[in-house]
Amino acid sequence: MTLAYYTHPDCRAHVMGRGHPECPERLDAIHDYLIASGLIDALDARDPPLASDAQLERAHAAAHVEEMRAAIAPLALAGEHVQLDPDTSAGPGTWNAMLRAAGAAVAATDAVIDRSAETAFCAVRPPGHHATRDQAMGFCFFNNVCVGARHALDVRGLERVAIIDFDVHHGNGTEDIVAGDERILMASFFQHPLYPYSGAVPKGPNMVNVPVPPYARGQHVREAIEQMWLPRLEEFRPQMIFISAGFDAHREDDLGQLGLVEDDYAWITRQLVAVAARHAQGRIVSCLEGGYNLGALARSVATHLRVLAGLA
Ligand SMILES: [Zn+2]
Repeated sequence: MTLAYYTHPDCRAHVMGRGHPECPERLDAIHDYLIASGLIDALDARDPPLASDAQLERAHAAAHVEEMRAAIAPLALAGEHVQLDPDTSAGPGTWNAMLRAAGAAVAATDAVIDRSAETAFCAVRPPGHHATRDQAMGFCFFNNVCVGARHALDVRGLERVAIIDFDVHHGNGTEDIVAGDERILMASFFQHPLYPYSGAVPKGPNMVNVPVPPYARGQHVREAIEQMWLPRLEEFRPQMIFISAGFDAHREDDLGQLGLVEDDYAWITRQLVAVAARHAQGRIVSCLEGGYNLGALARSVATHLRVLAGLA
């Protein structure tokens, strides 16, 4: 099976300041581990294009795209930084990184629909799942997964896609964008309470929200997925699956207090591969979200990729 792997040096050039956990070294850690493990040879590496306004506006208000452009694009020349919220800032490399990250989701969607790859992974930053229709927050500016999902529906003519979010934080931005869009089923688990403190009450009938208490382990999450996600996915029969792949529910990650390990990410990915095989011709596009312990992130991404590539 071909696993297309989208990443770009521009995604490294987005820097939010010394000591910020959402740092360029996250991508280095993943890349180094893929080389050291030899897994890189099993991936089909591809360059993502820059997303267009039309692509971004399938998930975002035009005013948000314009506001981001006005605030962030000039930083490249000015060499300055701006603070958007207490956790989120933009600098000279941010605008192109944002466009590459969203562009990767679109290109990966096309590749999987056109069968030049069975599955795709976007090793990109900034992440996207906290970006709402009209607001940047929580390290996120544009919602990469939503841009990809809406491209699949609005441009490529698919009728039903699933968005799975296994980041430790609730994907409030994704929920904001897709709640009520019956072409999309969003299933997630997230630690609750934890930033952004939303999700306990789903915003629409197409949302399967599974709040998980702090210090829950992988077995708790697996049982919740079996009981809550899988029956809904079977019933929905998605024609394609998007994954908001955050790895900060790992027990070594200090931004959350959950206790997942690599085996849990393998198990979750296998469930999604099985759903995709039954209903979606195997089509999966996965985009990196969180994951801040560099070692745990690299090992967990590799585990996820081995399953997506059919190697494990
Ligand atoms: Zn997260």
